[in-house]
Amino acid sequence: MKTAADIIGQIHSSLESDKELIERAYAFAEKAHEEHKRYSGEPYMIHISNVGFKLAAMGMGPRTVAAGLLHDTIEDTPVTIEDIKREFGEEILFLVEGVTKLSSVRYYGTDRHNESLRKLFVATSQDIRVLIIKLNDRLHNMETLSHVPPEKQLRIARETLEIYVPIAHRLGMGKIRKELEDLAFPYVYPEEYKHVIEVLEKKNGKYNETLERERKVLQKRLADSGLLDFHTSFRVKGLFSLYHKLKRKEWDIAVVYDLLAMRVVVTSVEDCYRTLGIIHELWRPLPGRMKDYIAFPKPNGYKSLHTTVTTQNETILEIQIRTKDMHQESEFGIASHLMYKQPLVTPGASSKFANLIPSLFRPFSRRAITETVIKETTTKDHKEKIPKWINQIGTMYTKEQSSEADFISDMRDDFFSNRIFVFTPIGDVVDLPVGATPVDFAFAIHSEIGNHMAGVKVNKKLVQFDTTLHNGDIVEIETKKNAKPTKKWLDFAKTSVAKRHIRSTLESQNS
Ligand code: MN
Repeated sequence: MKTAADIIGQIHSSLESDKELIERAYAFAEKAHEEHKRYSGEPYMIHISNVGFKLAAMGMGPRTVAAGLLHDTIEDTPVTIEDIKREFGEEILFLVEGVTKLSSVRYYGTDRHNESLRKLFVATSQDIRVLIIKLNDRLHNMETLSHVPPEKQLRIARETLEIYVPIAHRLGMGKIRKELEDLAFPYVYPEEYKHVIEVLEKKNGKYNETLERERKVLQKRLADSGLLDFHTSFRVKGLFSLYHKLKRKEWDIAVVYDLLAMRVVVTSVEDCYRTLGIIHELWRPLPGRMKDYIAFPKPNGYKSLHTTVTTQNETILEIQIRTKDMHQESEFGIASHLMYKQPLVTPGASSKFANLIPSLFRPFSRRAITETVIKETTTKDHKEKIPKWINQIGTMYTKEQSSEADFISDMRDDFFSNRIFVFTPIGDVVDLPVGATPVDFAFAIHSEIGNHMAGVKVNKKLVQFDTTLHNGDIVEIETKKNAKPTKKWLDFAKTSVAKRHIRSTLESQNS
């Protein structure tokens, strides 16, 4: 079991008061869960301490870690809301309650389940840390899923793949996403899982040995070339993402070029490109496989240089080259922005989405990071970091104006279907479902813009309102005071937000 000292060993803060807070939360939880056991028969505190440890290890601040330690107290023990408030204050209570509301309805019927999802977004829209605690709670529950009664396993695993994995992905939290996926995979697709394992075994790769050998070759070359500060690691592709790729490649593992990957983390963007040069001199690159996600980041903010090479031993390797802060961001996504008091955001950056898609021109400076006082941000700071799509879902459903059925279909259409990212002329990002049109874009920006949309330009060309938008499009809306929605717009609108606004405007015109 993780001890309070183990957890404190992970946090970035060296303040006595922060250590004391974690010790106090740990002792409080230990006492509250004294009688309480997991399905495995082990003390419940194993789960609690593990969630706390995971939060600390991913760089979350002491108050989030404390809330993680307390996350099951209100629900599962005689501890009350007042107790938590008195002992730990409003902020920690808010986090604990946010998570509690979700778990108090877990594993019941689907309506209850959707109710809990709705609450998740309401709580998250006020403080993203609720979601981060919940994801780590789910991760530990998945790690121990084999102890859960079989009739519940499939349901929990499926819920993980259908809900928590897309959320982690959307928040750029690559590490937790991969872990959740690979844990759920064998439960949800047992046959396919077996098949993937068979294919891997047939190839009979001693992957780790191969990778370790190639890593030494690479390390030596980088050092010989005068690169001083770098770090290498490697990975074998996750089974669930391998499964998807194999399906696309007719189960021919020979053409899965990213089965094995080597990662080089350096200290500056300049060193990234330099490292790429050194690697291409050492190993022959495969044509057409080089991708510059530093100059052109992925829509969820991911940045790295990718290339695929063949080594002297005929091993095909994908190589990912990135700086330390790109690495942090690709592993922890939105959570990596909660670790520091905004040391990385360029002053004057006006975009609300600066955290989702960091500016290409944001200067990378190691000194800036090491010199920043590491401090946990407050609930108010977090509000600004919450992606707009979470906020929209959160505020939409606090009004209690929609039925359960609406909620379920809205979630399916808006959130869990595939998304595109389009841009305003000043570079703000708007996140929309695939198939969205300028009508959706306009209402996503503001209802008044939607209600007075008179013309639209996509990539500087005038287009019709029913034009389908694509990833990366720059969309400019022209408004006129007397312009207003028509019934036809309902056919163009893909998002429920737009449809709702159009309907209510049409109704008010008719009355
Ligand atoms: Mn829990």
